Amino acid sequence: MSTGNQEFLADGSVRWILSTEERQSIASLLGTEENTLANVRGNIMNRARATCSCGKHSGLDDLVQNATAAGIHTKDFMLKVLIDGPQEESPAHGLQCSNCSKDFDGLFRWAGFWED
Ligand SMILES: [Zn+2]
Repeated sequence: MSTGNQEFLADGSVRWILSTEERQSIASLLGTEENTLANVRGNIMNRARATCSCGKHSGLDDLVQNATAAGIHTKDFMLKVLIDGPQEESPAHGLQCSNCSKDFDGLFRWAGFWED
């Protein structure tokens, strides 16, 4: 089943399909060109997108914004993850809305590698 910006997979994981808005936002956050991300279709997460009280869906832009804001990873590292997939198993963690800074409900982690 696909509902526009996400696709529910048989094993229970959910592909968050990178939207045009997310692509633009991520390119801006990482200081790169949008076409650098042209082949990134999305990534497979452990759960469906959450919806913030401000109306924003949780997305890859939030992941990137949270990580860069906290200084957890370099921009080059984040770009490599987006294009090549996670570099190692990542624990589930909370996610903050990049629009209004509230926390999304639940914990998020990658369930699989990116596909192009
Ligand atoms: Zn929000």
